[in-house]
Amino acid sequence: MQVKEIFSSQLPVGETLSIKRSRFEPLQKSDNLKRISIVSGTHGDELEGQYAIYLLTSWLNENQDAISGIIDIYPAVNPLGIDTITRGFPLYEVDLNRVFPGGEDGFLPGQLVHALVQDIKGSDIAIDIHSSNIFLREIPQIRINKEFSNFTLPLAKELNCDFIWIHDAVTVLEATFSHTMNSLGTKTLVVEMGVGMRLTKEYGEQLLCGMLNLMKKEGIITTENSFEAREPFLSEIGEVFYLNSPSSGLFVPALDHCAIIKKNEKIGTIVEPLTGATLDTLYAPNSGILFTLREFPVVYEGSLLARIFGERDK
Ligand SMILES: [Zn+2]
Repeated sequence: MQVKEIFSSQLPVGETLSIKRSRFEPLQKSDNLKRISIVSGTHGDELEGQYAIYLLTSWLNENQDAISGIIDIYPAVNPLGIDTITRGFPLYEVDLNRVFPGGEDGFLPGQLVHALVQDIKGSDIAIDIHSSNIFLREIPQIRINKEFSNFTLPLAKELNCDFIWIHDAVTVLEATFSHTMNSLGTKTLVVEMGVGMRLTKEYGEQLLCGMLNLMKKEGIITTENSFEAREPFLSEIGEVFYLNSPSSGLFVPALDHCAIIKKNEKIGTIVEPLTGATLDTLYAPNSGILFTLREFPVVYEGSLLARIFGERDK
């Protein structure tokens, strides 16, 4: 494994901004090796990807003989954000996933993402791991753009996630990492899992298994070990139901985790600590998989509480 700095900049406060990549490749180098690039920490308050990447790098360290392609790892694209528990890029207050593809002479966040794109360009596959925000918990899922789904959907199915959400082109933002890399010919998948500022060990292990499964299928690792990938729900064969809070108060979930639920199952209550009143009780509008669940308990009228994917009646 080699660690390389792909971008650095002196900051006015005397600190250095440094983006690092670690590369795993076979001991016997050869031409035309497949390359996968795995990215996380674009949003500084999202840490689940760091844990999944740690599990992967430690697996690769222990299984050096299995490596038959190039695996590039970028665990912290926004290190200043991670150090200060800030979602965006501190000093500039921008979301790094809205400034792609950036430019060499642009402002600092643009230069940073430009360097990242240049380094990843030419990879066969890229995975961008996100972990929601502090408000919502997400079951491990993949978000892909319909425009590129012919290439990315078969890969997404190998990643051992529970749900694949295919977005129409009109709702897709072009200034993102995934749109930029897909446009450059790198098949790019966005993973959303867990919750901001936390680690969910079982999700990290689930994604590790998926990443190893995908890499084995693609010939990037060669091993006797077999990795199972669960069958994901596909958004195209059903509908996403949004559950918003009808009142302001404290949301008390009735479920511990995202789960498969039945129509009319209780999802939670909105309560008022001052009076002891139960303001509202929420029930599932449909059977399906509850893939998003409110984590941060303070809610206002209209706050998102849950998203459920249900298959259409046949
Ligand atoms: Zn994110």
